[in-house]
Amino acid sequence: MSRDVKVKKGLSKHLLEMKFMKLSRDRIQKEEEEEACKALFYNQISDEMKSSSSKFILETSWVICEGLKCGRRSFKGMNPVIERILEMENNDKCTVKKVKEEDVDITAVEMAKIYQQESTLIETVGKKFKNPKFNSSSNKRRKFMKPLEEEEMKNIVNSYWIILNKINVCLFFVAIIMNEIKQENSTTSWEAVPHDIMVPVPIKIHSPVILDHSLPMAHGQLPVPQTPHNISSMGNFVEPELSAELIQHGWRKFWSKRENRPYFWNKLTGESLWEMPSLKHAFDPVTDPLGICAGGASVNGSTPHNDTLSLKRRSSEEVVENPVIKKFILSGPWDLEIPTNVIIFERSPTILAHPHPEVESLRCSLTAKLRQCYQELCHSRKNIDAPEDSFDRWLMERKTVDTGSDPLLPSQCYPEVSLSMYKEIMNDIPMKLEKPKFTGDARKQLSKYAEAAKKVIDSRNVSSESRKVVKWNCEDTFQWLRKTVGATYDDFQERLAHLRTQCQPHLTEAVKESIEGICLKIYHLSSEYAKKVRDKQSEIYKEQGITEPLTPASALTTRKVWCYPVQFAAPCPRLPAIDYMVEKDMISLRYNKIDTVCIHTQYMQKLEQLYRYNCFDDRKFELFLPRVWALLKRYSTFQGKNQLFQSSLSLTVMECLNRCFGVTFECFASPLNCYFRQFCSAFPDTDAYFGSRGMLSDLKAVSGSFEANPPYCEELMDSMVTLFEKLLSESIEPLSFIVTIPEVRDPAPSAILRLESSPYKKKQVVVPAFEHEYRNGFQHNVNKADVNIRSKNGLLVVWLQNPPGFQRWGPTEDRVEALLEAFRPGKERERDKQELLSPSRINNNLSNTTQLQNKLELEKSVTDP
Ligand code: SAH
Repeated sequence: MSRDVKVKKGLSKHLLEMKFMKLSRDRIQKEEEEEACKALFYNQISDEMKSSSSKFILETSWVICEGLKCGRRSFKGMNPVIERILEMENNDKCTVKKVKEEDVDITAVEMAKIYQQESTLIETVGKKFKNPKFNSSSNKRRKFMKPLEEEEMKNIVNSYWIILNKINVCLFFVAIIMNEIKQENSTTSWEAVPHDIMVPVPIKIHSPVILDHSLPMAHGQLPVPQTPHNISSMGNFVEPELSAELIQHGWRKFWSKRENRPYFWNKLTGESLWEMPSLKHAFDPVTDPLGICAGGASVNGSTPHNDTLSLKRRSSEEVVENPVIKKFILSGPWDLEIPTNVIIFERSPTILAHPHPEVESLRCSLTAKLRQCYQELCHSRKNIDAPEDSFDRWLMERKTVDTGSDPLLPSQCYPEVSLSMYKEIMNDIPMKLEKPKFTGDARKQLSKYAEAAKKVIDSRNVSSESRKVVKWNCEDTFQWLRKTVGATYDDFQERLAHLRTQCQPHLTEAVKESIEGICLKIYHLSSEYAKKVRDKQSEIYKEQGITEPLTPASALTTRKVWCYPVQFAAPCPRLPAIDYMVEKDMISLRYNKIDTVCIHTQYMQKLEQLYRYNCFDDRKFELFLPRVWALLKRYSTFQGKNQLFQSSLSLTVMECLNRCFGVTFECFASPLNCYFRQFCSAFPDTDAYFGSRGMLSDLKAVSGSFEANPPYCEELMDSMVTLFEKLLSESIEPLSFIVTIPEVRDPAPSAILRLESSPYKKKQVVVPAFEHEYRNGFQHNVNKADVNIRSKNGLLVVWLQNPPGFQRWGPTEDRVEALLEAFRPGKERERDKQELLSPSRINNNLSNTTQLQNKLELEKSVTDP
């Protein structure tokens, strides 16, 4: 509009549109736009601004920003953190009042306790981010910090809040704050939040549980040193120094700015104390795996209640003593709260190396290469694909004889040729046979077999007699095929069986050597790869100044102890960082920017809980992610494509085995598929932190009730029966093994025959095919809908027990009935539904019953371990 007016006032519109008038036209247009702007902002632009030379106007906008209200709201203790911020805003001061305990449903102290005992993934990740290594602004651990000025603190808190709000990661913030609440119990100011994160601050919450030494204890209930009570003013504090011996045991002195006094932190065990630590109370997971002998809370010979050290008493400690501690139970297809009833002979620590992502990455890529090489050898030499699963089975079979140093790659085996690999390849010579669907397929298969057999015998150096027999039989089959009309499916199958019987011995003779050659080649390659891995391992240890133990420590075999996780002889090297990404309910862990493994959030939480219960050298979870990465990498390499090797009994069956037969231990498991928190597994090195009691072959059980669901590997199943019979023959204490094995009878593996004829067999039942379900071996990363699978095989259940075991956990009719009922398909889903309706009821009931039952049982059974 204004433009039209202007044009009318000056030059004519037509003139302006001419080419040579471009400059004037632009100038006029600019003037018009300026005019229009002025008209728009005439009441906002002051004369001063007009006369100013700068084109930019600077406003101190922080004043306005500070006046803004926090975008989030919380009332009545719903979110104490938000309420603190609001309160801070209202008072316009840095001090924050304590959230009133009576106003909230879950008080800060309760939250602190929950986080102390069972901090979830959030806390772990929160802790991870607290770690100076992950804090980009400070790569050095700040041990002694100056108190920050109130104003400075206010600014930090404000900027923290604004930034976090914007990027929507309040989750971590809450975790960090909750952790602080945990440490402080009744925090008195914001001060603790941003800068104390990096320093481990000692606080040990009183366990309300009265220790009964005759009972198995949850590791979460270990007697731990307490923060002392009856402490006088901090001014009287006398600063003690650490002795060389204590330093050697991992103790270091730090300064708590909050309390303005030193404290002691053990970098090996993660323990922290206000007072000078005493060596005699050091927690030794090997000689005292449950910490029972470590005694209660006595420190330096004095109980926490009469400790006369002049340290300041914290009001929070009074609250901490409140006996109402909420136990966190991580719900899922497991019950990690069931304590063990298994007593074993003490073992020496393992000389296996701690898993390291760099080493694991190499090991797994070499294993993948070996798998590929196996396929290529079968293809080029035998013109067949490598038999399905035979590489995975080979890895398991080799473990029963391997005495080498690598946990995955076989390297020291006798005999070198694996019978399992040999048999599986041989079984596919001259071709792999499959059950045909239709009569036509059966006919085709017979003809193909005859052709393949002829080809094999022609291409090999065999005796003329063998050649004659095979050729004659093949020709005979061709003739039969030509002249027979209307043969049935069964006729073709029978004819094939006949041809095989005639030819197989000669074919075996013909290919024996070259198959052995394949087995040998794979084994030697594996040994070579294992050496490469070992070299890499040694290089890392050397770099970090760690001496590798070469021989196992002298065998400790006389003391009986509650079964405890595998311990390492060497200390753990520093581990590299792992990237952590969450997408929906899946978590990806990435090492070195390319090597990614995945796991469901729920299973990550399970690992976290297992780690808390079983890992003694990383109470701060600083090594948690690299260790989880190594675990997942190992299993994804070991597992191959067949989920069956990792498939497990259903949840309801496990529950029933525990309820009716006192089972508290799985003989074959992984941290991913275990139901109990104590189990044997294939990989003591990666699994030890998560509860593994070592490989089954190393189990020296004296008493307890076990479940054994082995992967289908004949040699492994066989060695299992041998071990169980040996343990049963040696123990006079209650010992029971409930074994489940697929009912295969054509032919039956020797393990089944031996189980059936064992002198310790108390009962056997068969759960028919399709009348039970199992859990998918990839349960930790498949869709929930794919977890329960109907079994195509029958399942043989056998009870092997010694007389006291039979007396305690015998297969009475009622119990067996209950077990068969638990196997019924759909049982797990029914249970899930129930749990959905009342999660807390089920969880509480479950753990209460199992705990009570175990308590009663153990009161009856246990002699001093
Ligand atoms: N714990 C489940 C699943 C068993 S699947 C259950 O009892 O139903 C078999 C498990 O045995 C797998 O996790 C496999 O990794 C593990 N395994 C393989 N070899 C083993 C060995 N030598 N000692 C102990 N566990 C082994």
